[in-house]
Amino acid sequence: MESTKESMRAHTSSDTPATCGECGNVDCAASRRKHGESDEDLEKRQRLQSRLCRIRRKIIVLSGKGGVGKSTVAVNLATAFLESGKRVGLLDVDIHGPSIPTMLGIETTSIRAQGEELIPREVDGLKVLSLGFFLGNPDDPVIWRGPMKANVIRQFLSDVAWGDLDVLVIDSPPGTGDEPLSVCQLIENLDGAVIVTTPQKVAAVDVRKSISFCRKLEVPVLGIVENMSGFVCPRCGEVTPILLSGGGERMAKDMDVRFLGSIPMDPRIAAAGDEGRAFVRHDSSSPMASIMRSILAPIAESDAHAKSPDPSMRS
Ligand code: ADP
Repeated sequence: MESTKESMRAHTSSDTPATCGECGNVDCAASRRKHGESDEDLEKRQRLQSRLCRIRRKIIVLSGKGGVGKSTVAVNLATAFLESGKRVGLLDVDIHGPSIPTMLGIETTSIRAQGEELIPREVDGLKVLSLGFFLGNPDDPVIWRGPMKANVIRQFLSDVAWGDLDVLVIDSPPGTGDEPLSVCQLIENLDGAVIVTTPQKVAAVDVRKSISFCRKLEVPVLGIVENMSGFVCPRCGEVTPILLSGGGERMAKDMDVRFLGSIPMDPRIAAAGDEGRAFVRHDSSSPMASIMRSILAPIAESDAHAKSPDPSMRS
């Protein structure tokens, strides 16, 4: 039997009406008032849902530890989708340390609004929104408690002119705190999480928590990427396992999730991040590019299935 999540996905299309309730999807949770829900809360939920209905796929990038390459993976995954011909958005909900603006070379922070909507920045066709765009001085810390973060994330989803997207990639801060929790609760039909780790035990232990977090919230785990696994000497090609090796793969096996592959430490990846370019654009034969393809291939295949006409309907 088709689950509610599946049926919500099936009703997601680029011509979904902008007003919630007009699509006729009786399975949609936003079509009904929740017990005790006020008019204002129902209106907020419907506004969010009408925006999310125009985004076919939503993928969150998570990790238990900071500095493991989560934003790097998010930027490269979004770019790989873009290069495969999809309409893509990238949302940075790393409120305390937004690195997406730097990694995409968006240095100016001005953001336009049209009526009540914020207009995302566009970089080579990729629609981008980050809290970093709203910080007057990038050196200023953001000191917010949970409810403020949840409110901002809701606005980033419901008050931004994302338009019709095939994929929204969401980069969240490390851990299982307010930001990933808000995303998972606000987006009822998340397609899944890509989990990033580095090979050593101290990172792997925390990343296990991210997997348990996804399981508790019923978010499918699309797989684990092991980043910074080994340094390849650019002169002799010898691989030095600086952060040990194999931790990501072992954890994937232990926790029964798909291992997507290893990305070596590569100074060109760090340089691309600092220079505001997505590495996959420049090296399509790298391990990074092949891992990104392995994430998007099953998604593209299931989209193709969903779109292909039922043979029994042919005359
Ligand atoms: P996180 O989002 O997990 O905090 P980032 O994606 O910001 O981590 O990466 C931290 C730093 O490491 C960045 O400067 C990034 O360019 C660099 N980096 C990420 N992955 C690699 C890699 N495989 N090789 C070299 N540098 C990397």
